Amino acid sequence: MIPNHWYNIVPDLPAPPPPPLHPATREPVGPDDLAPLFPMELIAQEVSTERFVAIPQEVLDVYRLWRPTPLLRARRLEKSLGTPARIYYKYEGGSPAGSHKPNTAVPQAYYNAREGVRKLTTETGAGQWGSSLAFACAQFGLECEVWMVRASYDQKPYRRSLMQVYGATVHASPSPVTSSGAKILADDPGSTGSLGIAISEAVEVAAAGDDVRYALGSVLNHVLMHQTVIGEEALQQLEEMPDVIIGCTGGGSNFGGLVFPFLREKLAGKINPTIRAVEPDACPSFTRGVYAYDFGDTAGFTPLLKMHTLGHDFVPDPIHAGGLRYHGMSPLLSHMYELGMFEAVSRSQSECFEAGVRFARTEGIVPAPEPTHALAETIAEALRCKETGEAKVILTALCGHGHFDLAAYDRYLSGAMEDFSLPQERIDEALTGLPG
Ligand SMILES: *Cc1c(COP(=O)(O)O)cnc(C)c1O
Repeated sequence: MIPNHWYNIVPDLPAPPPPPLHPATREPVGPDDLAPLFPMELIAQEVSTERFVAIPQEVLDVYRLWRPTPLLRARRLEKSLGTPARIYYKYEGGSPAGSHKPNTAVPQAYYNAREGVRKLTTETGAGQWGSSLAFACAQFGLECEVWMVRASYDQKPYRRSLMQVYGATVHASPSPVTSSGAKILADDPGSTGSLGIAISEAVEVAAAGDDVRYALGSVLNHVLMHQTVIGEEALQQLEEMPDVIIGCTGGGSNFGGLVFPFLREKLAGKINPTIRAVEPDACPSFTRGVYAYDFGDTAGFTPLLKMHTLGHDFVPDPIHAGGLRYHGMSPLLSHMYELGMFEAVSRSQSECFEAGVRFARTEGIVPAPEPTHALAETIAEALRCKETGEAKVILTALCGHGHFDLAAYDRYLSGAMEDFSLPQERIDEALTGLPG
């Protein structure tokens, strides 16, 4: 069954997360500061202290196109590994855009449309968020304008086509159509872009228009809350409770969406799973970033967010998991990580693709490059179980399919895939740009 509520973990935490700050006053931002960017209902959800928020009927009607999503046991993968572990995955690739992102795109478009907004702007990395928002805007009659990180725009032309099929306008970012994009291009005409730059461009255009708002596909509290439909369904579907839950983290939304309902049960003392986030070696905000107030974007238009960050000037190497190329991390998850509520590890690009190919050959689904991070860690955990003989129950989120990512698989299969090392000096340099 599709849950009829989203779960808000904030009131269940032992301490509330630090608030976003206004960059000029350094005071907590209020609803008025956010009103040029977001509709009132989403601003209210962002700071809500209600444990459950009802999902509107209009949103449930669209969710029904692909929800509830399947929870599957990876028996063939288990067999190929020879592990006593039992591996379950929640598959979000059956949505129209092929990932978990429509779970939040649909309510965001719905609330904006209800409040009279004409157009939504956004950024997209690999194109998964942009295509999800473009689909959601088409459902509710909104225009959609997307800034797509140049590296992905060039690597994944069909994600751009998909957005255009749904009716969106798409720019490669950095673009000459905004002043923040033009400024980057002036310094570096060949810039491959980053999510931070693309956010600046989308925010700039939203802030300038009366009936234009901005939509973010991850990071914020309301986004993670919308994704809890994943974990709520998994809780209903599982016949045995997990010992280990593993998810990939870019901005944290599929991970938060999967694990928050399980953390609720853990905080209530009913279950005790180990929970683990997996990020790329090339963009390790939990494992090598600092916990500090920083901007969510490169130009410094957003409020200051207390989060694990590599610095808003950090431009990650162009790994194929475009959705994980973000300098920061959800402030809510960052706070929970500081509280010791879950662990984090990082993985290299080639070991992730190796896991993706193994998964495709056993389970049949070609994973998006992002969840191959979770799969690489899941396989490593299952192999540890093989050594110790433990029959652990492992749950992971297969948060998207890789049908638009076959060029990346081509590179892996032909031996041309690179692993990027990330020298400490590059992190240190980007961190010098943190707001004092
Ligand atoms: C966007 C995306 C991610 C990364 O974003 P999160 O907010 O961390 O989930 C991961 N996987 C897929 C398939 C995505 O589309």
